[in-house]
Amino acid sequence: MGFRDRLQRFMYGRYGQDQLGIFLMAFAMVLFTISIFTVPYVYIAAILIIIYEYFRMLSKNRAARYRENAWFLKHTAWVRNGFARIRYFFTEGRKYKVFKCPRCGQKLRVPRGRGRIEIRCRKCYEQFIRKS
Ligand SMILES: [Zn+2]
Repeated sequence: MGFRDRLQRFMYGRYGQDQLGIFLMAFAMVLFTISIFTVPYVYIAAILIIIYEYFRMLSKNRAARYRENAWFLKHTAWVRNGFARIRYFFTEGRKYKVFKCPRCGQKLRVPRGRGRIEIRCRKCYEQFIRKS
């Protein structure tokens, strides 16, 4: 039996890697880098994080690990959404301008750079003029 088969058999039924795991490993790497310049506690913290992540990857309690990852994803959603919003602002967002309907408050997206245009609200059909 080759190494790959043995590894596969060993990993069978175990949890493996997830987003939380990737984050923990990256965080540990940052701590290792910091520890070069600073106190030894940072180094110890990095090692503890890696041990914890190996425990997670090799764990057979998949439900518990899944819950941890779900908790992590839930509490970091604002960071990921923030990055998505910034990316949108610099790509698609540049092509459009968003106006609020003066009557109902509906947000309306119009192409940018068309000069003064008449916008019709798609919700209440109010018409108003804005510079795009
Ligand atoms: Zn409206």
